[in-house]
Amino acid sequence: MIFSTFSSPYARFNFRIGDDRIPVHGPLKRDDVRAAALAKGFDAIAVVVDRSRLIIRCHTCGQHQVKRASVISKNQPECPHCIRNRRIAAAARIGVSFVRHSQKSQRHGHFVLPCGHEIHRQYYRVESAARGDHALGCDICRENRYAAQSLRFGWTLSGAAHSGRQGYRRYRHTCGHGQDIMVGNILWGDCACAGCSPGRTSRPSHIYMFRIHLPGLPVLKLGYSARPAKRLRHQLGIAKTVKTEVIRAIRLPTGHVARSEETQCHTILKRDHPEWLVPKSAYGDAINTVSEIYYPIAEARMHALLDDIDARHAERSA
Ligand SMILES: [Zn+2]
Ligand SMILES: [Zn+2]
Ligand SMILES: [Zn+2]
Repeated sequence: MIFSTFSSPYARFNFRIGDDRIPVHGPLKRDDVRAAALAKGFDAIAVVVDRSRLIIRCHTCGQHQVKRASVISKNQPECPHCIRNRRIAAAARIGVSFVRHSQKSQRHGHFVLPCGHEIHRQYYRVESAARGDHALGCDICRENRYAAQSLRFGWTLSGAAHSGRQGYRRYRHTCGHGQDIMVGNILWGDCACAGCSPGRTSRPSHIYMFRIHLPGLPVLKLGYSARPAKRLRHQLGIAKTVKTEVIRAIRLPTGHVARSEETQCHTILKRDHPEWLVPKSAYGDAINTVSEIYYPIAEARMHALLDDIDARHAERSA
């Protein structure tokens, strides 16, 4: 209660309600207010706090509360203890047992659900659930259910969505890749893994070489993509004013092959000529990638590496 820090030099003693100590000024002298309280189911005990309030005792449950004298005269005061008791009784009717009142809020209590898990809920929510207005869901059971559903499709629930979006969770695929997926989608197994889905890696792909004429900094990019031209113009975030060209693109049977050939090229270039790599700080946001950008001096060596890839795969498909 908000009165616990109030202290008056005129108060004779404190009245305790729970952990609160309420400064008492003396007995109630107004018979009209006393009569109004009695008629409404309460005994008026004492004048407290700023003298405009009273301590009243409920005839039904015998518990005390502080109320303004004006409220007692003009309205029907409610007893919060009786209301809470009524709600706890309602909870018991649907198999939800009351554990204790909340330390944080007068509106909340701790309850144990029929599943055995404990929840912290508003009393009125528990009562409306008992009336049948809604189900009293268990967060722990719900997450366990989501985890079990996702396992059927090879995903493991790993927690809250990284994006924080409602209705999403973070899942890890059997391949090790983690991604946010809508809970409703995983129910039906409608969730392609961005790490290993066949759509991405088993269709034909290309290893490519781009030239990007950043102002004052012409660079080369080596990478792989199913559609190199689209990658160059739409996915790298390069300004429209910057001239770009696809110097070369070698078609390969799958994305897997393209990715491993590309990785191999970067490994060789980095090992033999680390100075050819353009640091991210040099081009910043001008190209939406963190690596795979080279100075023009790398061009001849890149062509040689791509010639080699081309020759090996031409042999295989011949
Ligand atoms: Zn009461
Ligand atoms: Zn539960
Ligand atoms: Zn996967």
